[in-house]
Amino acid sequence: MNAVTTTDSIAASTTDLPQRRHLATTIPGPRSQQLMAAKQTAVALGVGTTMPVFAARAAGGVVEDVDGNVLIDLGSGIAVTTVGSSAPRVVDAVRDQVGRFTHTCFMVTPYESYVQVATRLNALAPGTHEKRTALFNSGAEAVENAIKIARVHTGRQAVVAFDHAYHGRTNLTMALTAKSMPYKHGFGPFAPEVYRAPLSYPYRDGDIDGTAAARRATSLIEKQVGADNVAAVIIEPIQGEGGFIVPAAGFLAALAAWCRDNGVIFIADEVQTGFARTGAMFACEHENVVPDLLVSAKGIAGGLPLSAVTGRADVMDAPHVGGLGGTYGGNPLACAAALAVMDTIEADGLIGRARQIETLMTGRLRDLQTRQSRLGDVRGRGAMIAVEIVHPGGTDPDPDTTKAVAAFAHAHGVIVLTCGTHGNVLRFLPPLTISDDLLHEALDIIEAAFDATAGGHA
Ligand SMILES: *Cc1c(COP(=O)(O)O)cnc(C)c1O
Repeated sequence: MNAVTTTDSIAASTTDLPQRRHLATTIPGPRSQQLMAAKQTAVALGVGTTMPVFAARAAGGVVEDVDGNVLIDLGSGIAVTTVGSSAPRVVDAVRDQVGRFTHTCFMVTPYESYVQVATRLNALAPGTHEKRTALFNSGAEAVENAIKIARVHTGRQAVVAFDHAYHGRTNLTMALTAKSMPYKHGFGPFAPEVYRAPLSYPYRDGDIDGTAAARRATSLIEKQVGADNVAAVIIEPIQGEGGFIVPAAGFLAALAAWCRDNGVIFIADEVQTGFARTGAMFACEHENVVPDLLVSAKGIAGGLPLSAVTGRADVMDAPHVGGLGGTYGGNPLACAAALAVMDTIEADGLIGRARQIETLMTGRLRDLQTRQSRLGDVRGRGAMIAVEIVHPGGTDPDPDTTKAVAAFAHAHGVIVLTCGTHGNVLRFLPPLTISDDLLHEALDIIEAAFDATAGGHA
C-alpha cells in the first residue's frame, strides 16, 4: 500500500507542475542560499554549479527550485533531458523496472532490455552495414572504450582529436579534450599517443572551405604522426563544450574518406549531438557521414546514466571476450529509460520538433543580431543553438558580456549555459518538448539581457 501511495504522489508531483516561469523570490531564494552554504561545507570545491539554486521538481521544460521559483530550462541538464524532464514514458518504464530488479550485472546474468537497446541503436546509427553495440555509464567511459576497440582492431596506438574538442574528464578523455582550464589544469600527466589537429571553424576560418580544412588537418596528421600509426580520429560532428562549432560542409566527409583510405577508425563523438538533438537522430546524418564507431550518451536515457559505443561489427568484435564491460554498464533502469526515450522520440515526432525549434530560435537570434553587433555568430542545428559573443566591430571574444547575459537570464528565471574555448558562447539546449510560448518568453529575456548589458562593453 505504501508503494502505491508513493508512486501516486510522484506522478502528481511532476504532472501538476505548470509549464510557465514563476519568480516567487529573488534568485537564489533563502532555502537555496542555505543549501549552497551546506554544499560548501560538504561537497568538494571542484564540483561547481552553473546556478546557485537547488532543484525540487522538474517537468517538461521547467525546473522548480526549493523556494518555489519555476525556471525555463534552456539547458536540459547539459543536453540530457531531450525528451523533457520527467517524460511520462520514461517515468513509467523506470518505475516498472525498479519494481522488478535494479541490478544483476549484465556480465553475470544478462537481461533482455540491454539487448533491445543494442538492437535499436544498431538500427538507428547511420549506415546499413552490420553493427554491434556495447553499453557503459558515462560519455567519457564510452569514449575510452571506443578508443580501446579501435586500438585492438587496428593494432595501432595514436589517436587524433581536434582543437576545441571536449571528450570528458577521465585520464584518456582529458588528454583528448583541448581546454586546459578547468578540465585539465593540474591533473596531468595525461595519456600518451594523443595528437591534436586543426578544426574547421567557419566563423574564424576566413575562406577555407570544408575540404581545404580537412586537408589542412590530414596533412598535419601525415607529417606529425604518420597515417600508419593512427588507430582513430575522434571528432564531435558539432562541438559541444568547445562552442557549438558547426564545421564547414564537406569537412566531416573528407575526414571520414581520409580515414577509410588509411585504415583509420573514424569515431563520431555524438554524446552531445545525438538522440534527435540536432534535428536528426545523429548529427553525422546532416553531412551523410557514416562513422565506423559512434559514441552516444547524454540524451540517450532521459537522465539515467547510460552511454554506448555502436559501430561496424568487425571493429566492435575485435576485442576478446571479457575485454569490454563494467559493473554497472547498461544498468537495467537505464536501459528501460533508453527504450522509453527512443519510443518517445518516434511517437512524438521529436526530430521534426528539433527542426522547428531551430527555425524559431535562429530566426529570433538573427533578428537580434541585426540590432546587437555583439552577436558575432548565430549557429547550430536543431535544438543545439549558440551565439558567439564578440566585441563590436570585430571578432574579439567577449566573455564578460557572455557572463553578464547569462547572469541576467539566471536572475530572471531562465537556465542558460555558456561554453567555448574563450567562454564567449551562449548555448541553448532546450528539451524538445518545450512549448513555443516558453521558448519565446525565454528569448524575450535573452534580448532584454543584451539590452541591459549594452552600456558596459561598447
Ligand atoms: C559531455 C560530453 C562527454 C562526456 O560525457 P560524460 O557523461 O560527462 O562523461 C563526452 N563527449 C562530449 C561531446 C560531451 O558533450
